[in-house]
Amino acid sequence: MKTALIDPFQRAISYLRVSVTDRCDFRCVYCMSENMQFLPKKELLSLEELDRMCATFIRLGVKKLRITGGEPLVRRDIMTFFRSMSRHLDSGDLHELTLTTNGSQLHRFADDLYAAGVRRVNVSLDTLEEAKFARVTRWGRLPQVLKGIDAAQKAGLKVKINTVALKGFNEDELFTLTEWCASRGMDLTFIEVMPMGDLGGEDRVGQYWALDDLRAQLATRYSLSDIPKRTGGPARYSRVAETGQDIGFITPLTHNFCESCNRVRLTCTGELYMCLGQEDMADLRAPLRASDDDAVLENAIRAAISLKPKGHDFDYSRQRADGQMTRHMSHTGG
Ligand code: SAM
Ligand code: SF4
Repeated sequence: MKTALIDPFQRAISYLRVSVTDRCDFRCVYCMSENMQFLPKKELLSLEELDRMCATFIRLGVKKLRITGGEPLVRRDIMTFFRSMSRHLDSGDLHELTLTTNGSQLHRFADDLYAAGVRRVNVSLDTLEEAKFARVTRWGRLPQVLKGIDAAQKAGLKVKINTVALKGFNEDELFTLTEWCASRGMDLTFIEVMPMGDLGGEDRVGQYWALDDLRAQLATRYSLSDIPKRTGGPARYSRVAETGQDIGFITPLTHNFCESCNRVRLTCTGELYMCLGQEDMADLRAPLRASDDDAVLENAIRAAISLKPKGHDFDYSRQRADGQMTRHMSHTGG
């Protein structure tokens, strides 16, 4: 193992989120427009390149890999990549291989994911009502996702549900969703919706629902206690005494834990974002393609990490004050 990746603020970088595709079989209203222009294939890292990139990060001390997208399970042959990554779990260099998915393909891949060493998956699900599900995802169908969740649990995968909080859309399902998750032994995390520009506003479903308000509503029925659980990201957690569940709150626009941030994000084109809330990125595809010598790539990664900012600052809120994100979540994988 080489010297670990330590950023200028003495944070060890041990968590890499990797977007393996910009494509998706859904068109969630807050994430994509209906007519998306996807990247030409040559722009994407091939599965071999993704493998080499991840192996290099693992050699440099990354212990946790989360695969995301777009929808990671629609990338052709993605199981080859998962199977290949399992060698790092076997060697003990990688501690966790996981993914975030919309669940549509889980019924096909749950067993294969388990066999590749995946033990936990995050499934995004905003509503348990079929018509509303079709409205918010545009192209998604709820029964297929529920079938996927069944398959995942049956395969032995621990499932966590991610729900985007949308006022006037899933507000009335707050308790239904919570209890449904509890009844199936699944933790639940709410995500504050980030305003994305240019997604075809005519299709607006719901609006910003502050998680402080959501939490206050939960507290009218349950005893919530804040727990010190940290995952290195902008999430805080509460335990529900009645159900034993941990409920997470991800507030992308408020940044509570930058000081313990251990993660960086790689896009499907090989750009490394050092911080979700800043525009700075480093192109790792060029050094990857320039040479077969991994030292070239390692140096580029180290140079990028040396630029990891201390955190999101007020610039961030000013930058976003107009409600526009210049990047889409499907680009950085959330
Ligand atoms: N397709 C997969 C999925 O939906 O889980 C993985 C990629 S998706 C971009 C990752 C997460 O970002 C999902 O939980 C999704 O709900 C969330 N997301 C997308 N757009 C968002 C937005 N505008 N605000 C907040 N969360 C968003
Ligand atoms: Fe696809 Fe996930 Fe974005 Fe929905 S949130 S459009 S499922 S990438």
